[in-house]
Amino acid sequence: MTAKRDYYEVLGVNRNATEDELKSSYRKLALKFHPDRNPGDKEAEEKFKEAAEAYEVLRDREKRALYDQFGHAGLEGAGFSGFGGFEDIFSSFGDIFEDFFGFGGRGRYRSRAQRGADLRYDLNLTFMQAAFGTETEIELAKAETCPECGGTGCEKGHAPEACRQCGGSGQVSRSQGFFTVRTTCHVCRGNGQVISHPCAGCRGNGQVRVSKRVSVKIPAGVDNGSRLRLNGEGEPGTHGGPSGDLYVFIHVQPHDFFERRDNDIICQVSISFVQAALGGTITVPTLEGERQLEIPKGTQPGDVFYFHEEGIPSLRTRKRGEQIIQVMIKTPTHLSKKQEELLREFARLEKGKFSNKLKNMLKGGSSSAVH
Ligand SMILES: [Zn+2]
Ligand SMILES: [Zn+2]
Repeated sequence: MTAKRDYYEVLGVNRNATEDELKSSYRKLALKFHPDRNPGDKEAEEKFKEAAEAYEVLRDREKRALYDQFGHAGLEGAGFSGFGGFEDIFSSFGDIFEDFFGFGGRGRYRSRAQRGADLRYDLNLTFMQAAFGTETEIELAKAETCPECGGTGCEKGHAPEACRQCGGSGQVSRSQGFFTVRTTCHVCRGNGQVISHPCAGCRGNGQVRVSKRVSVKIPAGVDNGSRLRLNGEGEPGTHGGPSGDLYVFIHVQPHDFFERRDNDIICQVSISFVQAALGGTITVPTLEGERQLEIPKGTQPGDVFYFHEEGIPSLRTRKRGEQIIQVMIKTPTHLSKKQEELLREFARLEKGKFSNKLKNMLKGGSSSAVH
C-alpha cells in the first residue's frame, strides 16, 4: 500500500482549521483540478481525487476525530476507503459543487448554445487610407472549431457519450425531505454528454487557437475612433451558438500637410507679400494632386479660400467636405540691392500717402485724432 499524504497537508490548512477554511481551500483545489478543466490530465485527476477524499473526511466531525487520533489507519478501521472515481466524488459532493461552480440549484435549465465572444482589433491607417478607404488583411489570434474532431472534442472513432449520471438530460433529481429538487448534473455540467476519449488536438474543448487572416474593407471617410463591426468574425460559439463579432477600432495617423476637421481638410499655404499685394495664381496640393488657386489683389494674412468638395467623403452621404486653404504671408529675408532700393522707394510713397491722409483728416476737424 502506498503512503497517503496527510489530509491537512493536502488541503494546505493547519490542524485546527475551521469548517469555512476547509471548504474554501477545497474549493480552490477542486476548481483548479476539475476534470472538465483538465481533460485527460492524469496528475490533475489524482490531485482532484486526493483533495476530495481529504475534504470528505475533515468536513465530517466523527471522521475528523478518528483521523486526528489514529491517522489513516483509524479511518480504514471504520470502513472508509476513499473514492472509487469521479462519479463517487460528484454524487457525494453534489450540493457543494453546486455552490462552488454556481450553476444549477434553482431548477433553471441552462441552454447549452452559447454565443462566441466579441474580439477587438486596433488598426492603424494612414491619413490617405482613411480618406479614400482601403482593403487590408489583419491577423487575429482566435479560437476556431477544432479541425481534428470537428468540434465534438472526441478522439477519432469515439463520440460523446450520454452522461450516465443524468441519462443525458443534463439534470438530476434529488429527494430532499418531501421535495424532489432538480438540479444541473455535476458530471456533465448540464451538457448531457461526457467525453471519455478527448481529442488530442483540442484536449476535448472542441476548439483550438489559431492565427487567422481576415480581410477587412475600410470604407472611405473613416476617422480616428471609428469602429467597424464584422459580423460573425469573433470567437466561435459553442454547442451550435452563433459566433461573436469582430470590432475594428480605427486609428488614423496625422498628415504632414492636411489637418482634418470632420469631413473638411484644412491646410496652410505661404505666399510672398508681393503675391499677396498684387494677386496671382498659386499651386495648392489637394488630396488628389495639385490644383491652381487664384489669389486676389490685397490678400491679407489668415485669409481663407475654399476648394469645394475636395475634402473627405462623408461615411453616410458620400458627399465630400471642403478643402480650406489658409494663407500665410512670407516676409523676404535676403533682398538684393535692387530689391531693397525698390522697397525703400515703395516705403517713401507709402509715407507720402499716409501724411496726405493725416492732413486731410486734420482739415476735416477731427480734433481728437492728433494732440
Ligand atoms: Zn449528466
Ligand atoms: Zn478536437
